[in-house]
Amino acid sequence: MGSGFSIVCKNCDEYSEYILGYGMLHSSLDAVLDLVPLGAQRQIFEIRLDHQPKDISYGYELFECSSCKTLHSRFDIRFKYGESQKFECNFYCGDCRKSLRRAKKDPLSYRCRNCGEPSLEHSYEMCPWD
Ligand SMILES: [Zn+2]
Ligand SMILES: [Zn+2]
Repeated sequence: MGSGFSIVCKNCDEYSEYILGYGMLHSSLDAVLDLVPLGAQRQIFEIRLDHQPKDISYGYELFECSSCKTLHSRFDIRFKYGESQKFECNFYCGDCRKSLRRAKKDPLSYRCRNCGEPSLEHSYEMCPWD
């Protein structure tokens, strides 16, 4: 099951929700394929022409933009194929178009996507989730 949390900016009141994990409907690779960017869907399609994906994992995860220091939630698909090749989605920051990497820090240590200030705090509003 998935979970989520929400963050609000003390400086500009920008509210954002982040989801993690995946829901009940996402039961197979085909069921989640349209949640990833089109480029990744094409790559997966081409890999599957020749290979059977193994060790498939997917779900919403947190990514960070190292350029504008913001936090993003993206649906990621990863699997292994062939001898020892790995597939991972490539994501880009919606704000500055730099590539995103997996977030390692506390969600509150990132900057607000609206005003750029490092003034985030947890919001008490609950996210709806299936
Ligand atoms: Zn960015
Ligand atoms: Zn802000």
